[in-house]
Amino acid sequence: MMSTRKTTPAAADDVLVACDDAALTFGRGANAVVAVHGATLRVRAGDRLAIVGPSGSGKSSLLHLLAGLERPTSGSVTWPAPDAGPPGIGLVFQGDSLIPALDVAENTALPLVLAGVPDDRAHQEAIAALALVNASELAERLPEEISGGQAQRVAAARVLAQGPRLILADEPTGRLDHATGGRVLEALLTAAGRTGAALVVTTHDPAVAARFTTRLTMRDGRLTTPQRAEETS
Ligand code: ADP
Ligand code: MG
Repeated sequence: MMSTRKTTPAAADDVLVACDDAALTFGRGANAVVAVHGATLRVRAGDRLAIVGPSGSGKSSLLHLLAGLERPTSGSVTWPAPDAGPPGIGLVFQGDSLIPALDVAENTALPLVLAGVPDDRAHQEAIAALALVNASELAERLPEEISGGQAQRVAAARVLAQGPRLILADEPTGRLDHATGGRVLEALLTAAGRTGAALVVTTHDPAVAARFTTRLTMRDGRLTTPQRAEETS
């Protein structure tokens, strides 16, 4: 959890997810679409990684591989750290849905409650996480009473409340106006910095990518070699 998690300082080579020549193909035969060609990358504790590319280039597919939501058609994806496998990964995904019958605070607290955190404790963590994404005023609203962009902020808060070691966010600013998107991005970066979590986002926005120390470009399912910010600026 955000305020209580004791983070053990991670070694610099602490690999959270390792992708080796991982490919993902949808469909078969003449209908086959290669969404990801053999991708090789490592995400380590504390990394800030942006995967940048146009729509349809395979960003979401790669993120799904990193999250363990899709199995690679060939190659491998592994999670070497004992506490950073798919169950411990925080996901902020496109089309994330909130549970209609629960208010925003309850939605944000739900993963903690399901993990056995007592209700009032989970509620406190949820409120703190909502504040991080400037969504405190939404706490008592139902999902049908908030906009799509607000729902995206709540989805980010829900992940932040869990204090995961690895946060994967698919176009987290995609449906937000510039100012709100900036706040969500800062919230994710700040929370990741506070907890020592690694943060991987996909984006088609160069301004978002510029906030990240490592940028990978995707084109037609192919990943380019990493560009460190210090080499390019
Ligand atoms: P991006 O996130 O960069 O927009 P995606 O990873 O969503 O790209 O898509 C990459 C390619 O894989 C596209 O050609 C897309 O149509 C295809 N694709 C993605 N998901 C599926 C799926 N579930 N079934 C078939 N094709 C898919
Ligand atoms: Mg996508």
